[in-house]
Amino acid sequence: MQILLVEDDRPLARGLQIALRKQGYAVNHVETGEACLHVVATEEPDIIVLDLGLPDIDGLKVLKKIRHKSMTLPVLLLTARDSIDDKVMGLDCGADDYLAKPFEVTELLARLRVLERRLGTVKSTQITIGDISLDTATQVVMQQNHELELSRKEYMLLKNLMENTGKVLTRSTLETRLYSWGEEVCSNALEVHIHHLRKKLGSDFIKTVRGVGYKVTQA
Ligand code: CA
Repeated sequence: MQILLVEDDRPLARGLQIALRKQGYAVNHVETGEACLHVVATEEPDIIVLDLGLPDIDGLKVLKKIRHKSMTLPVLLLTARDSIDDKVMGLDCGADDYLAKPFEVTELLARLRVLERRLGTVKSTQITIGDISLDTATQVVMQQNHELELSRKEYMLLKNLMENTGKVLTRSTLETRLYSWGEEVCSNALEVHIHHLRKKLGSDFIKTVRGVGYKVTQA
C-alpha cells in the first residue's frame, strides 16, 4: 500500500512518515501541490493524504485536479481549518475523508484502514490462483482452507503479483509498490521476501523471470 503524503509542515510530515511506516505502509512525501500532481501522474499511489494549506497551489485545487485524473483514488484531507463550510467544500470537491489538525495519529490510522478496506472492495476482493486465494478486503490469504500468516510486505508483494496474474512485474515496479522513497532497503530485500513467500506458498507458485522480475500464472 503506497501512501502519498502531501504536507509542507516538515516536523508533522516526518512524524507521520515514521508512524505510517511502522504500520507497514510505504510512504512518499512531497511538500507542494505541483509535486503532488506530478507523482499522481507518474506513480499511481494507492491513497493520498493531502494538506489543504500548501505553499504553491490551494489543496482544494489540487484535489480537483486529482479528481480530473482519477475518480476513485482515495484522498484524505488534512486541514487546519475546522469549519463546517471547509469540510463540506472538501467533500464536494471529491475528498473521501477529512481530518482537522491537530489530530491523533491513531485517528489517522483508523481512517486510512477504512479507505484501504474500501479500496479493497472497489477493486474487488477475492483472487484465486491454483490453491491460493487472497482476499483484498479482509487481507486474508488461504491455501486449501488453511490461513497463511504473512508479514505485511509479504502480503503486499503477493497481492501485487496476483492482481497482475500472467504479467511479469519487474523488480523496480515491485520495489516501488513496497518501499518508500529513500527508505533504507537492502539490495536483496525483495529476494528475501520472495524466499519467505515461497517457503509458505510452495516453491513454484511465484516464478522468477531471470534478469527481469517475477510473475504468477494460472496453472
Ligand atoms: Ca500546510
